[in-house]
Amino acid sequence: MKVFTDPKKLQKWCAARKLAGRKIALVPTMGYLHEGHLSLIQKAKAKRADEIVVSVFVNPVQFCPGEDYEKYPRDEKADLAKCRAAGATAVFFPTPKNMYLDRHSVYVCEEDLSKGLCGARRPGHFRGVCTVVAKLFNLTHPDFAVFGQKDYQQVQVIRRMVRDLNFDLDIVMAPIVREPSGLARSSRNTYLSAEEKEKALAISRGLRALKPNSKLSTLNSQLKSAGLRIDYVECVDAQTLEPRKKVAKGCCVLVAAYDGKTRLIDNILI
Ligand code: AMP
Repeated sequence: MKVFTDPKKLQKWCAARKLAGRKIALVPTMGYLHEGHLSLIQKAKAKRADEIVVSVFVNPVQFCPGEDYEKYPRDEKADLAKCRAAGATAVFFPTPKNMYLDRHSVYVCEEDLSKGLCGARRPGHFRGVCTVVAKLFNLTHPDFAVFGQKDYQQVQVIRRMVRDLNFDLDIVMAPIVREPSGLARSSRNTYLSAEEKEKALAISRGLRALKPNSKLSTLNSQLKSAGLRIDYVECVDAQTLEPRKKVAKGCCVLVAAYDGKTRLIDNILI
């Protein structure tokens, strides 16, 4: 497995692999890898990628002031071992300094799908996501990139960026991987105490119980009575992300809620 920190070296290697006729998959992550991330690598394998490039980068530009950029969990050594075991062929560990050069001044903004949900709650978040993902696409020129449904709005925003900026690759969405309890796996779960983990179960439980015509007010009160602080609970059209009054087929119901200080997200496609 190749390990890169220098974007130029990664770019050269990917270009050479591509010239050699190899199919390249990109799996962008912020590291502290868990089974959710590893399922994306499995997906890339199943789709017959010859080279699977995993990027591990806590992207400062996608964090808002006051968020957890500094304390976001990091474990480079464990991530390398997990990537190797999962079958990645290259890992990219850039530093903020070599991703954002002095006076970096170009950003990618998606201005439709990123308006609501996490985009409204985390101003600038998707600008940071789109910018770093566009850079990763330019560095690796993948045939496809794999993203998790866990971040449903992100997948839709990236798909729109690919369409509107003519990136030549496919976006593959992989299902949400959960702990046996139902809790969606997340690097941020490491922040949760045992008690908070128990509270968090209301999210996956509440989402799983949704059926066409279910009332979002029920989900809202389930989350509140579990002791979670709701950031948003919304039902949207799964394609346009426009609000929908009724839970119905073709909708996505998304939740963001604070469990103590930890912000958790989860969603379900109806
Ligand atoms: P992150 O490191 O949290 O930025 O996530 C990197 C990628 O892994 C994103 O495409 C996420 O949607 C995906 N991911 C994170 N958690 C999960 C999960 N529990 N199941 C599936 N994919 C996930």
